[in-house]
Amino acid sequence: MAIARQRFELPDGVIYLDGNSLGARPRGVVERVQSVIVDEWGRDLIASWNAHGWMELPHKVGDRIGSLIGAAAGQVVMADSTSVNLYKLLHGALALRPDRTTIVTEAENFPSDRYLIDAVARQRSCAVVLADAEAIVDAIDANTALVCLTHVNYRTGRMHDMAAITAAAHRVGALVLWDLAHSAGAVPVELDGCDVDLAVGCTYKFLNGGPGSPAFAYVAQRLHDLVHQPITGWLGHAEPFAMRPTFEPVAGIGRFLAGTPPVLALAVLDAALDAFDGVSMHAVHDKMMSLSELFIARVDATCDGRGLSLASPADPLRRGSQVSFTHEHGYGVIQALIERGVVGDYREPAICRFGLAPLYLRHTDIWDAVDHLADVLQHGEHIAPRFQQRLAVT
Ligand SMILES: *Cc1c(COP(=O)(O)O)cnc(C)c1O
Repeated sequence: MAIARQRFELPDGVIYLDGNSLGARPRGVVERVQSVIVDEWGRDLIASWNAHGWMELPHKVGDRIGSLIGAAAGQVVMADSTSVNLYKLLHGALALRPDRTTIVTEAENFPSDRYLIDAVARQRSCAVVLADAEAIVDAIDANTALVCLTHVNYRTGRMHDMAAITAAAHRVGALVLWDLAHSAGAVPVELDGCDVDLAVGCTYKFLNGGPGSPAFAYVAQRLHDLVHQPITGWLGHAEPFAMRPTFEPVAGIGRFLAGTPPVLALAVLDAALDAFDGVSMHAVHDKMMSLSELFIARVDATCDGRGLSLASPADPLRRGSQVSFTHEHGYGVIQALIERGVVGDYREPAICRFGLAPLYLRHTDIWDAVDHLADVLQHGEHIAPRFQQRLAVT
């Protein structure tokens, strides 16, 4: 049994192992967005901003996500994309440590995060210190302004010890900024409990908010009045409709907004989060570990000698919600599986990635998926010429 499979619309004949890239569609989102379009926008027009709480949506949805990542109310807000929120919080964090000279991250961090860390470091005359995943704590020293990491690695699913790294940064007076793109809705996260300073994440992966759904930003309450972000748009102003000539940030998490909220996208996301109602993240995590252990055991039993090797940590407690394998013809393996209705994805270099969304996956799906994988490899389907053609989105 999946935890909440009946809360999702899933096409027949598909085993969906890509919920780590684009979560499946929860039931109820069509009705909700239809109502916002027809009853609110269509009928009440501009009055809807007040009458239907549109301005509150970034906060309301932010608090719902906060409850899934261990953040008390008033510390999470929905805005922009993860990349843009990273930019805002990187600047905000570095401005709080003006006398320090480095940002610690890892070479294996997600490329967008690396690009932004590099750019903001240049703008603020900081150096970027690249450490191996195992050596982050050793790389933190009295020069460190900020440690900026992705909690669960997008390629391997390797999960950092958030509590230990955050504590190590705080011991020397550095700040931490966590990217929760592959964590939110997938593994238990305790932002307040770990005393995290700042975090960002996206909502179209394990939170199922739909393509391009808005990202979130978390700033610990104790920093609200200290942190300033560089995109000083009117919706982060203390009185947006006073139309003042100069910027004055609003108190609280609202100052991390910049422009008008994407109301339709937020309505979809709000409805999508109903899939988590009454679901404990610990139950999600237990289910995920059991799915991933089964996946690995079945690969060991059926694909031995076929060129797959586990790229994820063998210890389930150190993995996020995916299992990854390297294979010389990884791209072809994934394409051949997709033709069979088993949808995973491919990441350079040579990584076959299988996302495990416990809300809608069952053990039987894993069993069947690995049977297909073994079949593909046994029959050499993955080296067929038609599976070698790269598509724009892999
Ligand atoms: C998916 C992902 C992002 C996405 O960033 P967008 O700006 O929303 O496109 C960012 N960081 C990580 C680690 C990701 O996995």
